[in-house]
Amino acid sequence: MTAKKLVAGNWKMNGSIEGNDALVRSILAGLGSAAGGDRAEAAVCVPMPYLSQVQALCRGSALALGAQDVSAQAQGAYTGEVSAGMLREFGVRYAIVGHSERRQYHHETDAVVADKAKAALALGVTPIVCVGETLAEREAGRTEEVVKRQLAAVVHTNGHCISEIVLAYEPVWAIGTGKTATPDQAQQVHAVLRAQLQAATGHSDRIRILYGGSMNAVNAASLLAQPDIDGGLIGGASLKATDFLQIIAAAAQARA
Ligand code: PEP
Repeated sequence: MTAKKLVAGNWKMNGSIEGNDALVRSILAGLGSAAGGDRAEAAVCVPMPYLSQVQALCRGSALALGAQDVSAQAQGAYTGEVSAGMLREFGVRYAIVGHSERRQYHHETDAVVADKAKAALALGVTPIVCVGETLAEREAGRTEEVVKRQLAAVVHTNGHCISEIVLAYEPVWAIGTGKTATPDQAQQVHAVLRAQLQAATGHSDRIRILYGGSMNAVNAASLLAQPDIDGGLIGGASLKATDFLQIIAAAAQARA
């Protein structure tokens, strides 16, 4: 649907100064040929302490820098939080918001996620907004209801700015479990989200909807071949350069 697919790595709480250096250098070495020049975009969302290191490694390259969270607040007495303005100072282009691990372990509500997206957009950081159902919700036939409710909160708070987000459908039961949604299951939900974005903006084809949940070098091509899957949010497989590059190559080779 959209011009270029985006493959974003979510390193989660993994990395070390030495390991990051080797990983990013390997990604950069293979990025040009994997991406077919610039037929796909790639980003790495790294832990906050490593932003400066990875910014320096990526400087002048096509690999974009992302964070894994952002505060809903601009500044002030919010111990431990990092604002969108601070991220901008490190050249951060993307910030994941509403990842299921943050919804689960940090009790982030739909409203908080929407406010985080707003704070990022206000400072020119593109939020990668994650939505997705748990296994219990899927088994209860509530998948559509849940993802639509999660997205509706972001639409409600951000109005027409919603056009500037990246959306990621991440079924919670597929994250880090090795269980991937089938291409049909993923496409079905992506189509629902696309329709919701279309109703909200009138031009949903400009908004990328990524799939995330155990996407890897083997299953990436079939997922990325779906008409409404515009890229991937990659956890485990983004920690190995060869796997990450193969997913980028699959994105570059998939239809636009
Ligand atoms: C993620 O953390 O966003 C994710 C999709 O993880 P994994 O690819 O490991 O399932």
